[in-house]
Amino acid sequence: MSAPARKRLLSGMQPTGTGALHLGNLEGALRNWIRLQNDYEMYCCIVDWHALTTRFHEARAIAPASRQVAADYIASGLDPERCAIFLQSHVKEHAELHLLLSMITPLGWLERVPTFKEKRELMEARGEGDETVSYGLLGYPCLQAADILVYRAHLVPVGRDQAAHLEITREIARRFNRLYGEVFPVPEALIDEQTAIVPGVDGRKMSKSYDNAIYLCDPPDVVAEKVRNAFTTPTKIRKTDPGVPENCVVCQLRRIYDPEGYRISWEEDRAGARGCLQNKKELIDILNAFLDPIRRRREELLADPAELDRILLHGAERARAAAAETMQQVRAAMGF
Ligand code: ADP
Repeated sequence: MSAPARKRLLSGMQPTGTGALHLGNLEGALRNWIRLQNDYEMYCCIVDWHALTTRFHEARAIAPASRQVAADYIASGLDPERCAIFLQSHVKEHAELHLLLSMITPLGWLERVPTFKEKRELMEARGEGDETVSYGLLGYPCLQAADILVYRAHLVPVGRDQAAHLEITREIARRFNRLYGEVFPVPEALIDEQTAIVPGVDGRKMSKSYDNAIYLCDPPDVVAEKVRNAFTTPTKIRKTDPGVPENCVVCQLRRIYDPEGYRISWEEDRAGARGCLQNKKELIDILNAFLDPIRRRREELLADPAELDRILLHGAERARAAAAETMQQVRAAMGF
């Protein structure tokens, strides 16, 4: 008897900005994928076409950003032999399925998606006229549904607050199955209860858009500079003032990257037995020790473009094999 096939899982990330990932991306998403790659048939898609929804005017910046994402994935521990790491644009089946799904997706579903409304309002507030809000931006959830359904994925890992993002994909899958027959499993959100929101150096959520992120590729002196300027307990002015580690970015980051040792430093901080300078100095060493091997590995990968290409093409071949099988079923179900 053959072993039961492993469940399929699809994860995706958009290459935004330079593509470089920060500690928030690592702890909030990637860390979980690295754990899951052992138990699932995993497809890890860098959704470069999606980046066009907001970056069509700088399309040429997207490919280098995608490579940065891939390098960060692998350097952090995603194993291209265990999970297929690939670019969406390398697997044309995403586009074919997107087109077919777009025909059965009611316009009202797309217009009601909160992220569309938010992006539209943001673009309008920036004075970017109607011409920047594209058909593709409205259709984003439909392309996302195609990304997931083209692998007939059972599961999609999402952060605690993101389960709603999967709802429209589930609706589209149900609608297709009703119209043409059962082709797609209705994918479930795999909610990771362990993920923490990583604070940025200014105390807000770490994000590329807030300029408060520590990147996996930041050199040691940049990490040191960012930590030295980080937000700590505002009422702790002298070393002997009691700290509130829960409200201090430096203490929060220490808890994540020194899970064994942080307690003592937190107690001392609370008791006014250590100062912010010592906290910062120790965190700089902890973070740099953690980031060193990641930085080295990503440097190696980016220094050898042919090797990175080979990895991404290998990932795309595996993804394409699965996607092509789905598309045969889709075409047959629809009579094409
Ligand atoms: P950014 O805010 O930097 O643009 P994205 O929105 O591209 O990040 O997020 C990519 C992934 O990383 C998502 O799964 C998101 O939940 C996760 N993520 C981003 N920032 C954080 C953070 N500060 N803490 C935890 N997870 C995060």
